[in-house]
Amino acid sequence: MRFDIAVLPGDGIGPEVMEQALKILDAIALKYGHEFNTKEALIGGCAIDAYGEPLPQDTLELCKKCDAVMLGAVGGEKWDTLPGDKRPEAGLLGIRAGLGLFANLRPAVIYNALKDASPLKDDIVKDGIDIMVVRELTGGIYFGKRGRTDAGEIGEAAFDTEMYSVYEVERIARKAFEIAMSRRKIVTSVDKANVLESSRLWREVVTRVSKEYPEVKLNHMYVDNASMQLVRRPEQFDVIVTTNMFGDILSDEASMITGSIGMLPSASLGEGNMGLYEPVHGSAPDIAGSNKANPLATILSAAMMLRYSFGLEEEAKAVEDAVTKVLDKGYRTVDIASEGTTVVGTSEMGQLVRDEI
Ligand code: NAD
Repeated sequence: MRFDIAVLPGDGIGPEVMEQALKILDAIALKYGHEFNTKEALIGGCAIDAYGEPLPQDTLELCKKCDAVMLGAVGGEKWDTLPGDKRPEAGLLGIRAGLGLFANLRPAVIYNALKDASPLKDDIVKDGIDIMVVRELTGGIYFGKRGRTDAGEIGEAAFDTEMYSVYEVERIARKAFEIAMSRRKIVTSVDKANVLESSRLWREVVTRVSKEYPEVKLNHMYVDNASMQLVRRPEQFDVIVTTNMFGDILSDEASMITGSIGMLPSASLGEGNMGLYEPVHGSAPDIAGSNKANPLATILSAAMMLRYSFGLEEEAKAVEDAVTKVLDKGYRTVDIASEGTTVVGTSEMGQLVRDEI
C-alpha cells in the first residue's frame, strides 16, 4: 500500500529522533512491500527563522494533503522571549486545530526490561502495564466561556466553564471503544458525575455509545478515584477515556508510572484516519546534537501511525516487538541506562531496532 506522510522534524533533538523513525518506516516498507512517501516541512523555531511564523501556511497545507503527520519536537531558548502566539509551541496548537484533531492518545507501557525505572513497587507493576489514555482535546473547560466579573458583594471573581455537547462526547467515546476493540476490550470512562452536570451528560452518552460495542466492558470511575487507582492497581486499566482537563492530568500521571520521558509516544486523531504522531518529550536543547537522545518515543509514535492511520496492525506490532527485543538484549540510550546495560547513541539505537525488523 502507498501512504503520504508529512514529516515535521522541528527543533533541538527533533531532527535526530525523526531520522531514526524514518529508518524504521523504511525497513517496514521494504519488509511488507509498502510505499511511504515522506515530505518534509518546517514547524516551530526553524519555521520562525525561515518564515517568521511557527506554522507556515505551506506546512499546514502539506499536512492536510497527506494521510498522516509525523512530528519531532519544537522549541528552544532562542525563541523563548517571543510573544505567546509567535512562539514555537503556538505551531503545535495551530496544527492540531488546523487538522481538526480531537482525540489525544497517550499509551503508558511499562516494559519488562525497564521495570526498575518505574517509581512503583515491583508487586504493583507485576508483569508490566499497558494503558491507553484517550483524552478529549478540543472541548471542555480549556475552551469554554471564561471571564472576570465584579460580582457585587463577593467582589472580583473569575470563572471558566466546562461544557460538552452530545456530539463531542459521542465522537471521543467511539474512538475509545474502537481502540479498545483492538486491545483488551475494557474502557474506563473517567468523570466527576457525583458533582458536575457536564459529567452526568458525559456518562449518559458514553453508556449509550457503549451499546454499539457489546464486546467491550465499560466501567465508570470518578476522577479522584482514577488518580488513586493508577498508582494502586494500574493493571485494571486498558483504555481510559476522559475529558480534556481530566485527561491532561491523568495522562501525565500514567506516563510517569512508566518512568522515562524518552519512551513515551502519542497520537492525536481527527475524523477518519488522519492523525498526528509525536513523542511526548520536548526538543531537549540540553542534549541536542550530541547523539544522546532516545529515539524510541518517536519510533513508537511511528508504530501508532501504522496502526491508527494506516490500519497496519501487523507492521505496528513488528515495530513494537523490535523495540522490546532491543531492550531485552540490554541496549539503552543514556536516559534509560542502568547497571549492566549497554549504552548506545541515538543512531545506534535506531539501527538496532531496524536490524530486529
Ligand atoms: P524536554 O522534554 O525537552 O526535556 C526535559 C528533560 O528530558 C531534559 O533533561 C531532556 O534532556 C530530557 N529528554 C527529553 N527527551 C528526551 C529524549 N528523547 N531522550 C533523552 N532525554 C530526553 O522538556 P523541557 O526541557 O521542559 O523543554 C525544552 C523545550 O521543548 C522547550 O522549548 C519547550 O517549550 C519545548 N517542548 C516542546 C514540546 C513539543 O514539541 N511537543 C513538548 C514539551 C516541551
